[in-house]
Amino acid sequence: MQKMKNDFTVEINAVIEQIFSEKCKILKQELISEIHKSLNSSCDKLSEIRAEKKQINAKSSYAEMAKRNANKIVIKPINNKNTKETKKALKKVIEPTEGLITTVTNINKGAIIVECKNSEAVEEVQKKVNKEIGQEYATEKLRETKKRRALKIVGLSTKLNDERIIECVKKQNDIEDNKELKIIKVYEDRNKREESYNIIIETDCETYEHLIEKKRIKVEWDSCRVFEHINVPRCFKCLGFQHKASDCTFKQACSKCGEQHDVKECNSNIIRCVNCFDLVRRKVIDVEVDHYAYSTKCPAYIRYLQSKKAKK
Ligand SMILES: [Zn+2]
Ligand SMILES: [Zn+2]
Ligand SMILES: [Zn+2]
Repeated sequence: MQKMKNDFTVEINAVIEQIFSEKCKILKQELISEIHKSLNSSCDKLSEIRAEKKQINAKSSYAEMAKRNANKIVIKPINNKNTKETKKALKKVIEPTEGLITTVTNINKGAIIVECKNSEAVEEVQKKVNKEIGQEYATEKLRETKKRRALKIVGLSTKLNDERIIECVKKQNDIEDNKELKIIKVYEDRNKREESYNIIIETDCETYEHLIEKKRIKVEWDSCRVFEHINVPRCFKCLGFQHKASDCTFKQACSKCGEQHDVKECNSNIIRCVNCFDLVRRKVIDVEVDHYAYSTKCPAYIRYLQSKKAKK
């Protein structure tokens, strides 16, 4: 009887122990997942804040740059002259008391930077200088911002020519006429069921920010979405990113199977992205590799795109 009781106690203890430890395990797991959840949300929040901060910094520096170069002209002598002579020549053309010019700064080789009161003054000064002393001096407007950025405009329903696109983008989206917009390319979006075109356009940072903020812009009667466009140069031979085929020192790669042949000659059943396969092999990232190298969802491509974005 005593033995039976002992055995029973042992058994119950074991069961209790088991139940208790099971419960502990669950509690432990719950605790761990709670910790993970809050850790993840903290991380998300942190990267959000970082991105926001970056955007604010970028914006203010573009605005500053634009301001710095606004309404300025460079006047440079065609033949050897010093800055004193250049200023003297300018004085003959523009009377300082007229107030068209606010400051004059010397730069090298006899050239000067002339800051004008406003954009009309810029036009007037440039016109006068060209007319009166254009034989001896060349003038050049300082670009508002040197850095230019590209946008992708998506979902145009009819194909328009470059001039018409620029006209519509400017007139219908509150962009001043003197802003420079350059069409990089217009192409048909074959992923859409109906006829649809995308436009890659390049412009100064200020106009870029203005358009990006709108999220949608008007082009004729279309309301088109706008995105940042990052040009990713690609090698047609090895399908790698940072170089052209003419500079390529790597092996040729098939965009379908990743083997060493042209995709036109491919008769493999395997779909394997050469870039992702390489990253996985080198243990850089752990991703699926069964997609075409030109897929826009390719992790290697996305990774490269993000690294380019981060450098902006
Ligand atoms: Zn290459
Ligand atoms: Zn192949
Ligand atoms: Zn890939």
